[in-house]
Amino acid sequence: MSRSVTVIGLGPMGQAMAAAYLDQGYDVTVWNRTPSRADALVARGAHLAASPEDALRANELVVLSLIDYPAMYATLKGAEDAVAGRVLVNLSSDTPEQARAAARWAEELGGTHLTGGVLSPPPTIGSPDMSTFYSGPRTAYDTHREALEVITGKTDFRGEDPGLAALMYQLNMVVFWPAMLAYWQAVALAGAHGIKAADIAPYVTENYAGMGQFIDFYAARIDAGDHTGDVDRLSMGVASMEHVVHTNADAGVDTAFPQAVLDAFRRGADAGFGADSFSSVLKLMKK
Ligand code: NDP
Repeated sequence: MSRSVTVIGLGPMGQAMAAAYLDQGYDVTVWNRTPSRADALVARGAHLAASPEDALRANELVVLSLIDYPAMYATLKGAEDAVAGRVLVNLSSDTPEQARAAARWAEELGGTHLTGGVLSPPPTIGSPDMSTFYSGPRTAYDTHREALEVITGKTDFRGEDPGLAALMYQLNMVVFWPAMLAYWQAVALAGAHGIKAADIAPYVTENYAGMGQFIDFYAARIDAGDHTGDVDRLSMGVASMEHVVHTNADAGVDTAFPQAVLDAFRRGADAGFGADSFSSVLKLMKK
């Protein structure tokens, strides 16, 4: 394989990816809507393409790291002829449906689209410890796997459906953003009492570290359709979340987020699941 790659999109992620390729001695061509973001990379030997079309034509392997898929279409507008023969490895995040549509779009243009779902932040790019989801044509993945591992560590190929890597990414985002918002809620509540974020950090960290055992416990039961309220009852969850809402309100902290959790628990109790496990709210989530 030629050790040569194009990186389109130089936000914090794209910059880290292009830098990781340079570290490994790859010949790197870059393009970004705002050209100045390429300055440090060019100083290290990267080539700044004059246009998105030139960036595509420079290499068979083209890594895209943009804010979303519409940014890819906006970037490659007018350069569609140059997609033929390229393997577009799209590490921008978006929905599974966007990934499937992009795969069809690339195929119609004679190119190949491989979807990636990167979970790790920029400082970890290039580390062998990180793991990244991929899906799409297996042959394209196998051909470029070594080059992909340079930027995204261990690669986790989920299958030929281009939407699968995006789905796995979204599953993790469903957990990540609300988990972080829960943390910020705790920071706001602590702050209202003069307690600093750093002071509660060890306790919050321990709380999140213990989540694994809850997840394993509930996963087995949920898959077995078991929502028995032998260790936790939804009515207990309602009472507990009422305490959380009131504790925040009493401290003058916004309650929108805990109130949303309380509302979900109350809907479950109103539906008759009060004596069951709080996992029974799952039954209300499926449409
Ligand atoms: P951003 O998500 O902020 O994306 C920045 C890039 O998108 C820049 O190259 C920017 O160009 C380009 N862009 C934005 N809008 C347009 C547009 N309309 N047309 C053309 N280009 C556009 O930066 P990140 O590097 O943080 O993220 C890249 C991807 O990686 C995202 O999909 C993100 O969800 C994902 N990701 C990010 C992580 C992180 O911790 N940062 C972690 C895991 C995944 P310009 O420089 O000109 O503004």
